[in-house]
Amino acid sequence: MSTEEQAGFPRPSDLELAGHPQAELHERAFSAAREHFGGQVFVRGVVEVSNYCRQNCVYCGMRRDNRALDRFRANPARIAEMIIECRPESITDLNIQAGEDPVAVREVVLPLVRVLRRETNLGISVCVGSLKHELYDALKAAGASIYILKFETADPATYSEVQAPGTLTERTDNLRYLNASGWFVSSGFIAGLPGQTLEQMLHNLRFATDLPLDGCSVSPFIPGDETPLSKARSAGVDLTLNSMAFLRLLKPDWVIPAVSALNLAEPGSGYRRGLRTGANLVTINLTPSELRDDYLLYKRDRYIMTEELILRAIEAEGLRPSQVGLAQHYLRRKPQLAVA
Ligand code: SAH
Repeated sequence: MSTEEQAGFPRPSDLELAGHPQAELHERAFSAAREHFGGQVFVRGVVEVSNYCRQNCVYCGMRRDNRALDRFRANPARIAEMIIECRPESITDLNIQAGEDPVAVREVVLPLVRVLRRETNLGISVCVGSLKHELYDALKAAGASIYILKFETADPATYSEVQAPGTLTERTDNLRYLNASGWFVSSGFIAGLPGQTLEQMLHNLRFATDLPLDGCSVSPFIPGDETPLSKARSAGVDLTLNSMAFLRLLKPDWVIPAVSALNLAEPGSGYRRGLRTGANLVTINLTPSELRDDYLLYKRDRYIMTEELILRAIEAEGLRPSQVGLAQHYLRRKPQLAVA
């Protein structure tokens, strides 16, 4: 019997569960994560190194048509020094994120990955968009091992309407290439894009579970400042959490992050509710404050997750930070992918 048959694939109305049945669903998802990961949560840092972007996704504040942003590329030596000298003790991994900016990949991300590989034992993930195969290969050779590339929505028509990068087929071809070339791959989709139906949300779940992934996120749609969707309605946090719970039940061994946008969808408690729904990865924002303001995914007013907030949330949910890093964890599961 496949995991899907054991868990039972949800019906559209299941995504709207509320009250007692919802609490029960979330408890089942939390238990599945606990059984699989022993109550341990991966703690990573994120640093955002460029907000130049050649894409024009209608939901994202970094889109190229947004002329109101001060565009920046970080100085790799400065970021490396900050990470090497003053990173929070609890992080085992670092995620390097940027707009889709191949120049920054060459001039900022690659040198940064090389220094960090040499000077630290951090696991390194990158979330830098759809690139040519040779750039993926160069990032891996430099020492990154986890690639995060969200498919955003599994509905091809919506994908093209929201002007997500390239086509959905190209995005999934990229995911398959990354998997086949030895990366650990995480993807993700946006819950509650304007006009999205429950059937489409279920299709996102099925699409994700059919891809060769090691992890997947569900992010609530947040109407981005300075975007064509700035007046649209935010996704409901419950739709997001219910989707996360089903994803956990369908894929008990996947790494599912509690994304920072949960705190915008439900200020103060969204993040903790993510952990209570079976998420097992949290992120501390390490972007220098003078760059952060112009790294605009959602709102200019961001909810910045500090080490203190993260550790408090983990403890409050009866969980604990994982001693084993995320990249290390993946490698234990697929030792054949160890770099010689
Ligand atoms: N350029 C890179 C990564 C940066 S954007 C890439 O293309 O992968 C990171 C993610 O933020 C996107 O993949 C998208 O899923 C999410 N995102 C951006 N704006 C959003 C919004 N308004 N609401 C929800 N998610 C959003």
